[in-house]
Amino acid sequence: MIKNIVKYLEESYLQFNEKLISGRHVTLVNIKPLIVNLPEIFKVQELGKSFENQNIYKIKIGSGRIKILCWSQMHGNESTGTNAMFDLFNFFINPLELKDLRDFILKNCTLIFIPILNPDGATAYTRLNAQNIDLNRDVLDLKAPESVLLRSVIDSFKPNYCFNLHDQRTIFSVGKENKPATLSFLAPSINIERDITDGRKETMKVIASMYKSLKELIPGQIGRYTDEFYPTATGDNFQKEGFNTILIEAGHYKNDYNRDITRKYNFIALLIGIKQIAENEDVDYKQYFDIPNNSKHYFDILYEQVLIKTKVYSFGVTYKEVLQKDKIVCIPISKKIDLDSNYNANKIVSEKLNFNDNDDFSNYLLRNEQFSL
Ligand SMILES: [Zn+2]
Repeated sequence: MIKNIVKYLEESYLQFNEKLISGRHVTLVNIKPLIVNLPEIFKVQELGKSFENQNIYKIKIGSGRIKILCWSQMHGNESTGTNAMFDLFNFFINPLELKDLRDFILKNCTLIFIPILNPDGATAYTRLNAQNIDLNRDVLDLKAPESVLLRSVIDSFKPNYCFNLHDQRTIFSVGKENKPATLSFLAPSINIERDITDGRKETMKVIASMYKSLKELIPGQIGRYTDEFYPTATGDNFQKEGFNTILIEAGHYKNDYNRDITRKYNFIALLIGIKQIAENEDVDYKQYFDIPNNSKHYFDILYEQVLIKTKVYSFGVTYKEVLQKDKIVCIPISKKIDLDSNYNANKIVSEKLNFNDNDDFSNYLLRNEQFSL
């Protein structure tokens, strides 16, 4: 009997980790061999095609009454959720000491997974699909074929719960120490008043349960997104229609640019969320509000004193990640900031550096701080 499941999952993680996919640039080419080799407990179906005719798959497991839908990479360059999803599949295949939990979940839940909803964006390493549509803002217009496919699953499956898996940028931080937001959650609003309906309470309960478990492992690194209502956002609309939608944003863990560590916590969060839905443990939804808000106080590099001509400035540097010849290149982009104790970074440069002008400093960054993954 495992007493502390999250600790066990963290310690045993390498046995669940799907080693055939990793990193930031995860495409259909990477996941297809894994999908076709899934064992028979998974029912694999081709759901349809993307705008550029790439396959989108639907993978079903379990036979229970509670219906859970989970999709990843509706933003093509946000792969951490996909990686975590395949770790979760390995848990279903071989749960090690957690066989009872696996069996309980599959007996009580039917789960449908759509890994890489936006395969064209994944190939090109872009947020948008091949028509330059943000799938997370296309739920009403349904202009993208990928949005139509997701809608068709919602209409036919009518899930009780959805997990909408995304990645967030390094700039997001949590709490007073401004640690990186390794995971952030949102129970989307259904109107501008942000009413806390019964459905939202159910969503909040699942998030509260994930937060309670995960904060043991990554204290101070879990945030909550603003629940401002976005009338065209997928999660807000699904929640409004009664499909309780949990948004998970995978973010930065210090110096983990491939997000291998974040992926581990994303996998654990997903499993704990599904466990909560299956077991329906009594959790106070109000604990959702104990999760600190995300803020934007984290940088890749912080330069405290940069002398340009005669004046001293502080700069925050954030990497822009661009696909160049099959590699993700992290290009440093700097911005002047008013330095205060709110800021934190992976690397803090306190010594005073001298430059002739802004371009001189930008070139210095390109020469010294640019790298590829
Ligand atoms: Zn996203």
